[in-house]
Amino acid sequence: MAEERFDAVVVGAGFAGLYALHKLRSSGLKVRVYEAGSGIGGTWFWNRYPGCRCDVESLDYSYSFSAELEQEWEWTERYPSQGELLRYLEHVADRFDLMRDIQLETRVTAARYDEATRGWEIETDRGERVSAQFCIMATGCLSAPNFPDIPGLESFAGDRYHTARWPEGGVDFTGRRVAVIGTGSTGVQAIPVIAEQAEHLVVFQRTANFVVPARNKPLDPELQREVKATYPERRETCRTSAQGVFAPVPQHSAMAVDDAEREATYAAGWAAGGGIGILGVYTDTVIDERSNATAADFVRARIREVVEDPETAEKLIPDGHPIGTKRICVGTDYFETFNRDNVTLVDVRATPITEITPTAVRTTDGEYPVDALVCATGFDAMTGAVRNIDVRGRDGASLAEYWHAGPRAYLGLAAAGFPNLFLITGPGSPSVLSNMVVSIEQHVDWIAQCLADLEAGGFDTIEADREAEAQWVAHVQEVAGMTLFLKAASWYVGANIPGKPRIFMPYVGGVGNYRNVCDDVARDGYRGFVRARAREPLSVA
Ligand code: FAD
Ligand code: NAP
Repeated sequence: MAEERFDAVVVGAGFAGLYALHKLRSSGLKVRVYEAGSGIGGTWFWNRYPGCRCDVESLDYSYSFSAELEQEWEWTERYPSQGELLRYLEHVADRFDLMRDIQLETRVTAARYDEATRGWEIETDRGERVSAQFCIMATGCLSAPNFPDIPGLESFAGDRYHTARWPEGGVDFTGRRVAVIGTGSTGVQAIPVIAEQAEHLVVFQRTANFVVPARNKPLDPELQREVKATYPERRETCRTSAQGVFAPVPQHSAMAVDDAEREATYAAGWAAGGGIGILGVYTDTVIDERSNATAADFVRARIREVVEDPETAEKLIPDGHPIGTKRICVGTDYFETFNRDNVTLVDVRATPITEITPTAVRTTDGEYPVDALVCATGFDAMTGAVRNIDVRGRDGASLAEYWHAGPRAYLGLAAAGFPNLFLITGPGSPSVLSNMVVSIEQHVDWIAQCLADLEAGGFDTIEADREAEAQWVAHVQEVAGMTLFLKAASWYVGANIPGKPRIFMPYVGGVGNYRNVCDDVARDGYRGFVRARAREPLSVA
């Protein structure tokens, strides 16, 4: 029997869970948030590795729901560090009195739909069992760490870390020999900082990545004042844009200009820092192979310029995927780091890791003795955290099994057969292809309005229609197929997790377009959803 009943249970207390709590509580609902961590903040609680920061500018990677919050919070850097983002979210939790409804150090292990009550029974690893009419998964797209399946990993006798489970007090690598496995966005941020401290650093690279300079700097107070004075317009631009960021809209193909103009445009983007100046200046960079190659070649040339040893430079040059089809990495002194005497690069595609021994990483080419091992090996992205929960919908059907061939969700918000269950930034929504705070706010606002409309209409359940869901999933694939994204073995398609079905998970159709679709669906009486009242039998397509 459930110990307590809520209107809504929210799983996770990152950007999504915190705003969901605030929003739903403001609509008068009784809400409980469960968070596995010992603190709030989600991504920005767990990822304390050296160098961790956001690569969307702080003025845009922040909540827009409260004008007071917007005005009172002072950002200090162009790109906020993990520490600054955590302080911001703790301030938000304080300011909106959120902690009283958040239970920390509590992992939701199971959620079962109960036909009799038309709600959810939720179980935690503390043995609690509560019920709620609505269950909202704010579990994060990048929150289930991926530990590499390397023989002997457990036998390593030195210190072993995953970047997404970094110790709260930090780690001192002074005088130590360190191995980093992984050169995605995380590795790219951590490697230069660890290299400065460690006696020696060995970087194990499987895929060379495109990295552009961040050019982070203290935030100009004058710029901050200007932005704060025009926030409503700026936020609206982000909400209706393709990626949720404040940037000029590209006007033409990379092929529409001559080589000199293109080179100058990329050079300006490179000098300004960030991904937009390279990926966001032409309309077709991730659509047309020739256009894409111009941007990729520009970055390759910069790598050759920076890296002194030509053999190392060639190893660092990405060649297996179009630029932008794996998440572009934004770094500080990344390529420069490989000019240091205390840094060794090992290409594990050429010489794979065969084993980890108690004292070393062994490859087909030899052994690298180390005192500490850092796995910057990413996440079981987009579906991992939800699948880790035993979610059972109508007739006891398992969500993990329903998704065995890849995730299926209508608008990325809800899955057929799982009434009253919502996914924030779920698969099939722009999520990880956007400034995620913008996408989170859009989903939370939509869900809150949906619950209010259900209440007003006397409905007590809502569920995705199977046919509408199938059409949306097909549309997500169709749009992805119009781009170059499917040419990369990325985590967007689940390629980083052995055995995971290969299906493109986020929606590449753009934040603004997607918002319009969601708003139309709601205006149209929740087209593609089935709503029901308790006194009526449920009919599901
Ligand atoms: P999260 O912040 O991941 O929070 C989910 C929470 O749910 C976690 O705290 C987790 O512990 C909890 N949880 C999961 N399962 C359970 C369970 N069963 N029971 C209880 N609790 C559970 N996005 C951008 O837009 N721009 C960036 O520059 C950017 N940089 C990033 C850098 C890093 C290192 C990482 C990892 C991600 C980055 N992201 C970025 C994506 C980032 O995850 C989102 O921007 C945003 O923070 C997600 O918020 P969230 O609340 O949806 O998820
Ligand atoms: P990731 O992009 O998945 O990178 C993981 C790295 O580990 C890749 O280089 C991968 O190689 C490698 N790897 C995985 N398993 C391996 C194995 N068994 N042996 C050898 N190498 C292995 O993960 P991430 O770097 O943590 O980033 C995940 C996402 O989080 C990013 O794409 C981004 O969305 C977000 N993020 C953003 C920032 C930021 O700057 N804003 C910073 C960090 C993270 P392959 O590429 O060959 O799979």
